[in-house]
Amino acid sequence: VPKIVTPGLSLPEKTLAMIKPDAVQSNYTSMIRQIIVSEGFHILEEKLAHLDDVAAKSFYKEHAERSFFPSLIRFMTSGPVYAMILEREGAIKKWRTLMGPTDSNKARVQAPDSIRAKFGIDGEKNSVHGSDSTEAAIREIATFFRDFQESNMDSSRRVHEEL
Ligand code: UDP
Repeated sequence: VPKIVTPGLSLPEKTLAMIKPDAVQSNYTSMIRQIIVSEGFHILEEKLAHLDDVAAKSFYKEHAERSFFPSLIRFMTSGPVYAMILEREGAIKKWRTLMGPTDSNKARVQAPDSIRAKFGIDGEKNSVHGSDSTEAAIREIATFFRDFQESNMDSSRRVHEEL
C-alpha cells in the first residue's frame, strides 16, 4: 500500500545513535533502547560493534587536535558499542535533546530527564552519541551500516519512489 503524503507535513529524518562503551558495559542498552522507542523514534537498523583504533580516530577526527582526544579514543575502543539508525521527524535535533548536554554532571543539573543525566558518568563517559548534522549523520551511518544506501537518507526521494 503506497504511503499517503500530505504536502506541508515534515518528512522523517535519520540520525546515528550510539550507546557508548560505559553504558553497554553497565547493561543499560535495553533501557536506553526502550526510552528511544517510547520517544517516537523508529529503529531502522541496529548492531553491536567494537571500534578499533583506526575507526574510533576516524569517527572523532574533528577532535583530533583536542587534549582529550587520546583519552576519548582509549575509552571508545575499550569495549563494544551499540549503534542504531533512528528515524523520525526532526530526528537529529530531537535525539540530541533527549541525550542532553555533553557533560553528564552538567546534564544532571540542566536536563535531569536526559539520557546522559540518567546513565552517563562524566564529561567523557557520557553513555550516548548522536550525529550533530545531516552530513555527520550520513557519514556516521555509513561507518556502521555500510550497506545502508545513501539514497535512503533522502526521505523525499524515497517517498516519491513509493508513490
Ligand atoms: N569529550 C571529552 N572531553 C571534553 C569534550 C568531549 O572527553 O571536554 C568527549 C565526550 O565523550 C563527547 C565526545 O568527546 O561526547 C565528543 O565531543 P563533542 O563536543 O562532539 O560532544 P557531543 O556531540 O558528543 O555532545
